[in-house]
Parts: sequence; structure tokens; C-alpha cells
Amino acid sequence: MSINPLKQYFRQAILYVKLPTQGRWYTSDDVTFSSEGEVGVYALTALDDILLNTPDAMLNGQALEKVISNCCPDVKNVKRLMLPDLEAIFVGIKSATNGGKADYDRKCPQCNHENSFELNCQHLLDSTMFINEDDLSINFGNDLIVHVKPYDFEMRQLFTKREFEEERSLRMFDEQNKDVDELTKATLLGQSVDRLSQMTFSLVSRSIEKIEMVKEKIIVDNRDHINEWLVGISKAQADMVIESVNRINGIGVPKTIPVLCSNCNHQWEDTLTFDPSSFFGKRS
Ligand SMILES: [Zn+2]
Repeated sequence: MSINPLKQYFRQAILYVKLPTQGRWYTSDDVTFSSEGEVGVYALTALDDILLNTPDAMLNGQALEKVISNCCPDVKNVKRLMLPDLEAIFVGIKSATNGGKADYDRKCPQCNHENSFELNCQHLLDSTMFINEDDLSINFGNDLIVHVKPYDFEMRQLFTKREFEEERSLRMFDEQNKDVDELTKATLLGQSVDRLSQMTFSLVSRSIEKIEMVKEKIIVDNRDHINEWLVGISKAQADMVIESVNRINGIGVPKTIPVLCSNCNHQWEDTLTFDPSSFFGKRS
């Protein structure tokens, strides 16, 4: 193949992002960091934009994987990317593509006024919280120390897909059974919520790296043994594990921002989501 003289005009990294995990779970085959511990982020191409706006392609993770590889070539193995890093990269890509800004609309809960806001992506990235050692272990009395890690790309994808399928089947049932009673609807919704909780449970189990038995000085990292333990403990204890995994999944780019309604001056803390199919916006 001949060398393309246009190569010097190919797009270049627009900004560099520090990842919230600081590479803790990656090998050099997964992610290549700059000497500053950052990854370069490029703007979306026209093809990326098409992929992001093709719902079926997004649902199977391959489209999103392609977009991430293309906009963040320092990530060699997208499947291994941890959720907090993934979100920082989404904000980076948005910033690189959109001149540092992200637009979003919110209805005021007091007066219903539709507010349009402009997020400063660099400011969000500058406010990133990094994962500390303390975030990664839970003590069960003096006996056990449970070591947890965030979801990775594959786990996030599994959950998103299941959530989408559950919503779709509920919606289809509603459309096909217009005059079904509320009790049946509530039962179906309950079953759907149960299936999602089971999914969460199995993902949380995968997020347990190992369990340390303090007195016995034994480390358990056998998946089956960990699963068996998680299924057998009390609900309160299981909830402790689930909460701590949820918490580390949430570390990284800030998830709430203070908002002021331009119509009635009502102020509230709004929740930010970086789900790529909505965060990157629809094409006009
Ligand atoms: Zn208002």
C-alpha cells in the first residue's frame, strides 16, 4: 500500500483525559497511557455519528466498541474498560466533538418550564473523582474483607441490553393488551423488576475480585465459591456489597449538578447521565 500524503491532515487528539481508575485494572495491552497518565481523545467522525444513531447497532456492543476505539485509540481493549473510565471517555469525546460543550434540556419540577443548559465538559472532567484503595474493600466485622471493582464495558452492555429488552416487552404488552387490568400490569412490572435485580446480583458477584478471610489468612478468588457465598448471606449483607459496587461505578465524572430555572428561579440538584445514545444527541 502506498503512503497516503493526506495522512498529516488526519484528525488528531483534541484533548487528554485522566481516567478515574488511573489504570488500576489494566495491562499495557488494554490501555496505553501517556507519561502524564492520560489518554488522547479525538472528535467523532461522520461514521461514528451514524453508528451512535443506529439503535440496533448500539444494542449489541460492537458499534459502541468501534466508536470508542476510533475516538480513543489509546484504548486497545474496549471490553476491559471500567465504567467510570468509560464515562470520562464519553465526556471527553463529547467535548472534542462539540467545542467543549454539551447541551441538555431539563423541565423545571416547580413550573414545568423547559430550560436549556450548556455543560462545560472540561469543567466536568476537571472535577473527576479518582478511585482510592479505600473504595475497594468492605469489612464484614473482623472476619471478612470483600474486595470489589467497578463494572466493565461488557457488564455495562449486558445490563443495558437486558434493561432495554425488559422495557420493550412491557411496552409491547401494553400496546397489545389495551384493556388489561392494573393488577396484571403491576404483576408483570414486578416480574420485570425481579429479573433486572437478578441480573444486578450476578453482575455484582462478578465485581467481587476476592474475599479475604482475616483470621484464617486465606484469600478466596474462586468464582463459584464467591457466588455461593453471595447467594447465601443475608439480604442486609448482600445490599452492602451491591451498594459498594454501585458506589464505585459512580465515582469519576460528577453525576449531579446544581441547576437554576430561568423562569421561576427554582434551584435543584440535577442528575447527569452519560448514556451514549442520548448523551451524544440525535442528528437533525
Ligand atoms: Zn421553574
